[in-house]
Order: sequence, then structure tokens, then C-alpha cells
Amino acid sequence: MHDALLDAEDVFDKLHEECGVVAIHGHPEASKLAYYSLYTLQHRGQESAGVSTWDGKTIHTQKKMGHVSDIFTPEVIGKLPGSLAIGHTRYSTTGDTVALNAQPFSVHCNKGLIAVAHNGNITNATELRKELEDRGSIFQASSDTEVVLHLVANSREKTLAGALREALLQLEGAFSLVFLAQDRIIVARDPYGFRPLAMGWLEVPGKPSAYVFASETCAFDLLGAVYLNDVQPGEMVIVGPEGVTRERYTTEKPRSQCVFEHVYFARPDSLVFGRPVQTSREMMGVLLAREAPADADIVVPVPDSGNTAALGYSAESGLPYRQALIRNHYVGRTFIEPSQAIRDFGVKLKLNPIRALLEGKKVVLVDDSIVRGTTSRKIVRMVRNAGAREVHLRISCPPTISPCFYGVDTPNKSELIAANSGIEEIRRFIEADSLAYLSMPGLNRAVSDTKGEYCYACYTGDYPTDFVNIDQLVRAGKKAGV
Ligand code: AMP
Repeated sequence: MHDALLDAEDVFDKLHEECGVVAIHGHPEASKLAYYSLYTLQHRGQESAGVSTWDGKTIHTQKKMGHVSDIFTPEVIGKLPGSLAIGHTRYSTTGDTVALNAQPFSVHCNKGLIAVAHNGNITNATELRKELEDRGSIFQASSDTEVVLHLVANSREKTLAGALREALLQLEGAFSLVFLAQDRIIVARDPYGFRPLAMGWLEVPGKPSAYVFASETCAFDLLGAVYLNDVQPGEMVIVGPEGVTRERYTTEKPRSQCVFEHVYFARPDSLVFGRPVQTSREMMGVLLAREAPADADIVVPVPDSGNTAALGYSAESGLPYRQALIRNHYVGRTFIEPSQAIRDFGVKLKLNPIRALLEGKKVVLVDDSIVRGTTSRKIVRMVRNAGAREVHLRISCPPTISPCFYGVDTPNKSELIAANSGIEEIRRFIEADSLAYLSMPGLNRAVSDTKGEYCYACYTGDYPTDFVNIDQLVRAGKKAGV
């Protein structure tokens, strides 16, 4: 059944939910702190952003399409009073309903006022939604996150914590959730721990200290918060007037932390799953240099995704590190743009080579991944056209062969070049003189995964959860004739 699913990619209509979340409890300027945090998490999603606050009487929400800096003017922040806040930044590919899908979502139900923001992908959202709609729930958006609120509202449990527990137990897949429930912040992580969620502590002069939660610890650095630890897989943390309560709402499943956070997604100045992303990425470069040396003159990163691995490659190989591609930082990450046309155009808009560094040189070009191969081909051509004699592409992770169902926007298998072509074929397509990827044992070592705690499904096709989505399975099964 599983193979049938993977062979029938064209029936997939999964929601991509690359996101960043934040929550603040107990700070007089909670909305500003949430806003600053979202600035640091902007790389996790550039389509929309939002903040909800609780002022002691009601929940206020401001959310819009666009970047954090454009949305949150002083006037908008002024509409977000209160000492509790949650925030969200989002990228998704779901067509024209996107404005409605901006988070946080909030409802007024029999459990009171609740707002929620989510990072991850709830793989049984379609079934849950159908059941809820059959029972009369009305949905405003197509995002899987709204399902969580309806489950809470529908629960027969009397207390909010009880209803949340019941709701969380029905979810499958990846979720790092932050809730604002009147006078409390509640956060939870799925039992596999796919997506990160860190907990921090912030001193507030003359007041009890504040608690902060964020997808990445770079948010804490900006706020001046101290990183305490991670919200554990299968854990729910409640911060209310009575203090902090941490409880396991379910037993932990085999830990499946997303390795792609360390490969590409997170910022290098963050701790993710308690480990510095910088350390992992540099190590990927070091091991790549050992596994796939090149007879070359210089090491050039594809900025910014290849920067840190290229440093490692340069240090290990002894070849000089040269920033021969200059990135225009005012263009969004090209991959994140929704249409192919924009992405293709974006490469030139985003990168420009320095001929003086490349002319006549044999170049090792380092990047984190090849997805479709189209961007990589353009970059290789660009480097060659700027005078490079040879271009040796080195990729700091194994070939991406399978889509992600847990919150990273990888395209369908049919579009993943490495799912359909061997390395030599890819090399020819991208027009490089040589091509090599980091091996699986190399990646394993780079993130120091001694206990098998990471999810590598995009490189192995081996998914940690049993099934992904009944609806998709059935249709995929039909297509594949099973
Ligand atoms: P392509 O050659 O078209 O496959 O594009 C490769 C580029 O996409 C690399 O520079 C990567 O850093 C970037 N990339 C890889 N995976 C992702 C992702 N999930 N989200 C955004 N960008 C990505």
C-alpha cells in the first residue's frame, strides 16, 4: 500500500505548511515580542503572518498576507494589547484561499476563546475534517490547523486542558502547536517530534518572569531570553496564572526529528532539537570533502543555503573559500515563490557571479540540495559563463527522492529529479563536471544521530508513520491498481 502511494504522486494535493510559531506568556509588550520573534522566523515562511493577543477580556488577532515587516506597522501592533501572545509565519502553496489560511485561527466555543497556530502537517486532517463536517462543523479555511480548533470545540471534556488532550490524541503527523486560551498559553508537540519547538525564559523588570516558545532559538537571542529546553515529543506545556505545568499527553513514539531542519530549513544561529545548526552544517561540509574530494582551486557556496557547508568543505579540503556568487537579499528565497516562472526568473535576480574570482578557476560549488534540478543547472551555467574552467557540484545531503508529509515543501515525486534519475543523469542535466552528494552515514554523523532520532524520509522514502492520509492512500491505491 505504501509503495502504491509513493508511485502515484500526481494524485497528491497535500498542503505544504512550512511555518514558524512563537508564543509569549507574561510580558506587558507581548505583541511586540511576538513580532520581533516572527522577524527572526521569517525564513520559515513568507506568505503570511499573524499575531493574536489576550488582554484579559478578549482575543485580538491581526494577520495578513505578506512579510512580517510589511504587516506589523505601529498601528497594527497598537491593536494587539495584552501580556499573552502567539504568532505565526506561513508559507503554503494552496491557491487562492491563502488569505483565509493565514494564522493564528481563533474561535469562541464552549471552552471559551481559543487561538491556535501550527507548524507541521496533520496527515489525517482530511478525514478528521470530513467527520467534523458530517457532525455540523463549519470550516472557514482549507488549512489543516482549523481542524484542531473544531476538535477542541466538539470535545465532551469539561476542561480546556482535557479537550485539548482529547484533540491532540486524534491528530496524526507532524505538529508543533501553540494555543492562546484566555489567561494561558498551551503548547504541544506531536509524539514523534517532527518539528522543533523550544522553550525559553525571559526576565521582566519588576514582574514575574515571562515564558517564551519558538520554532527556533534565534528568536530567544533577539528577545534576550534564555533557552531552557525543548518541548518534548508528546508533551503539552501549560503556562497559566498558577505557573508552568508540563505533562505527557501521550506516550512518545520513535523520535523522528526532521533532519532537513539541520540541512537547510533552520537558521545556522539556532539550536534545533537542542543542537547548533551551524555545527551540523559545517560537519556536513567536512564529511562531504572527505567523501567527495575534487581537484579544484576554490570552494564557492551557493548563498545562503550552501554557506556553512562550504566553510566545512573548505576547511577540510584546504581549498580557499571564495564568495563568488553574490546574493541580492531583497529577493525572497526563489524556491519559496509559488510559480515556476517566477522561480526561474528569480535565479538571476537573486544571484550574480564575480568574474574576477571565477575566471579560469576549477570550482567546487557547494549547495544543500537539488530538488528539481532547474535552479542548480542555472547556477552551474552562471558560474561557467563567468569564466570557471570546471564546476564540481557538491551537495551537503543525500539525493532527495521522496516528498515530505510532515511540513517541508518538497514537490511530488514526479518532479524530484533524484527520484527519477541516477547521479550521472543528474550531473548531465545540471551540466556539472562532477556531482556528489553527502552519504546517509555522513548525514547521520553530521547531526550526531547516534540513537536514530531523526526522520530521513525525504532521502530514504521510509516514513516513520504508518500511513499518511487515508484519502490519499485510497486514491493512490486506485491509480496503482491495488
Ligand atoms: P533546484 O535546482 O531547482 O532543485 O533548486 C535547488 C535549490 O532549492 C537549492 O539552492 C536549495 O537550497 C533550495 N531548496 C531545497 N529544498 C528547499 C525547500 N524545501 N524549500 C526551499 N528551498 C529549497
